[in-house]
Amino acid sequence: MHVAVNAAMSVDGKLSSRRREQVAISDPEDFARVHEQRADADAVMVGIGTVLADDPSLTISDTPAENDGSPDQPARVVVDSDARTPTDAAVLDERALTYVLVAGNAPAERVATLEAAGARIVDTTGERVDLPGALSALDAQGIDRLMVEGGGEVIYSLFAADLVDELSVFVGSMIIGGRDAPTLVDGPGFVENFPALTLESVRRLDGGVLLSYRC
Ligand code: NAP
Repeated sequence: MHVAVNAAMSVDGKLSSRRREQVAISDPEDFARVHEQRADADAVMVGIGTVLADDPSLTISDTPAENDGSPDQPARVVVDSDARTPTDAAVLDERALTYVLVAGNAPAERVATLEAAGARIVDTTGERVDLPGALSALDAQGIDRLMVEGGGEVIYSLFAADLVDELSVFVGSMIIGGRDAPTLVDGPGFVENFPALTLESVRRLDGGVLLSYRC
């Protein structure tokens, strides 16, 4: 499986403010690029923190229609140990297939509720979602190209498990600041063996810049 992480951050590396509400960081050209990248992916993944904060639908609106008239949407994937995804979350709407990755001890009742709401559950072992195991399970379902749209906790875990192949970061020309504001890579962070990146390209998009790395 090829894993491509994509995010938009402020010049000081923040994904959002300390309120953890969605902040408009991307410019229109970057939005269009993100939709193109989604269209190229088999699935688009976010963590439950992002679902609860932003309620994203993770769909594409302008792809060529299939025979039945509906756009060809990538699947959605939520990393959600305790099956906390609200049943009315946009990510569970009928526009695309949604996988919810849960941990071994996820409450059975919540899991059943999500299944009834149309989610496909991927069980993993441990107290938190085992990402290497979950990604292997998704790979077995035919997901070859996975796009990850955040947030910082999930992105950290993917780097820590050496699962990221590609990173694209749009740097919006703004400062957000705040020691408690989410950054591109959160979690406990690295103190050694820092993941090294190879800079592939630098592109100006509207008033910001898109940095693309091989990992
Ligand atoms: P997140 O990464 O979306 O989700 C983190 C949650 O995922 C964890 O708290 C954990 O909750 C669950 N999880 C389960 N297994 C995990 C594992 N192995 N590793 C890591 N997480 C695991 O949340 P976040 O870091 O708080 O990011 C949300 C913030 O980022 C919001 O403010 C949002 O607006 C912002 N955001 C910005 C962008 C951007 O491009 N600017 C993109 C996305 C999000 P459980 O333990 O309950 O499972």
